[in-house]
Amino acid sequence: MKYSDEYRDPKLAGQLSRQIHKITTRPWVIMEVCGGQTHAIVKFGIDTLLPEKIQLVHGPGCPVCVTPLEIIDRALVIAAQKQVIFCSFGDMLRVPGSSTDLLSVKAQGGDVRIVYSPLDAVKIARDNPQQEVVFFAVGFETTAPANAMAVYQAKESGLRNFSLLVSHVLVPPAMEAILSSKANRVQGFLAAGHVCAVMGYTEYPPIAAKYQVPIIVTGFEPLDILHGIAMCVEQLESGRHEVENQYTRSVTKQGNTHAQDLITKVFCVVPRKWRGIGEIPQSGLALRSEYKDYDAEIKFNLGNIKTQESPECISGLVLQGIKKPHECPAFGVECTPEHPLGATMVSSEGACSAYYRYKRIS
Ligand code: SF4
Repeated sequence: MKYSDEYRDPKLAGQLSRQIHKITTRPWVIMEVCGGQTHAIVKFGIDTLLPEKIQLVHGPGCPVCVTPLEIIDRALVIAAQKQVIFCSFGDMLRVPGSSTDLLSVKAQGGDVRIVYSPLDAVKIARDNPQQEVVFFAVGFETTAPANAMAVYQAKESGLRNFSLLVSHVLVPPAMEAILSSKANRVQGFLAAGHVCAVMGYTEYPPIAAKYQVPIIVTGFEPLDILHGIAMCVEQLESGRHEVENQYTRSVTKQGNTHAQDLITKVFCVVPRKWRGIGEIPQSGLALRSEYKDYDAEIKFNLGNIKTQESPECISGLVLQGIKKPHECPAFGVECTPEHPLGATMVSSEGACSAYYRYKRIS
């Protein structure tokens, strides 16, 4: 397939693998931030092409995984209401809340719809003026611009029956939280290329300098990831800690400034709880007060919803690169993709799910 096969060429992968073997003299721990990268690493066996001294650990960049259970429970309560059309991307429908999931709410008569864009949800709101239409706005900086546009358009056109249930998270604060933890093992990062396509990478040099870690903006195909690892190892071996861009075909230093302006217009930065990790300061986006009429949490006034995560689950340690999925006693036993106990098994991009799917036990 054009623009895909070129980045999966086995010969070039072999060359990059040999280059990494040649330059590696010491043990290094490198974290890929994004769940899409984790999935590609496990699917294509990229870690098996590396020297034993290089350990890849898997980061918190799976949006479905880090969406708190409380937010999922709120979504379920809203979606079950009679006057509501609840819209979401498909990947949230099977994610279990405390007692059920959106697919089951739909099976029991709830009007739950899969959409491909929040703008589709805006159109549904226009077409159904008697109904309240709610879009489940989860994800990183990548999905924030479209969600911002949906709310902006709704407000500009005077649409009153549309709102967002927001659980947006930001990548750089999570990287800082990992690096500042006493248990941190991460010495270099492969930053998420699609996040940087929106945000650029001007936020990263202060992090690289403060914690003395190389940060390589990296794509998602096997050759991107191997190239990113080679660039990271080169820096580690030579004692450098800079920000470099492997994903030049998609990412510029400044990113998409129009998208950034739209995010800033509609959202403000707030503390946000990450499932499995806990609250990270200034790590989320919430609707600005000018857009509070479009905030489903305010509109539906659900109060406090208390939840309890499985005590067996160590997904917080997996998301911070401290443990690997197979080190969890529940992995593949009590916890499977059909019956997930925790954050990193609920989505196909989660590390536990990827390990289970591709039968990785080491
Ligand atoms: S295998 Fe399941 S219980 Fe264990 S860390 Fe992963 S998600 Fe949690």
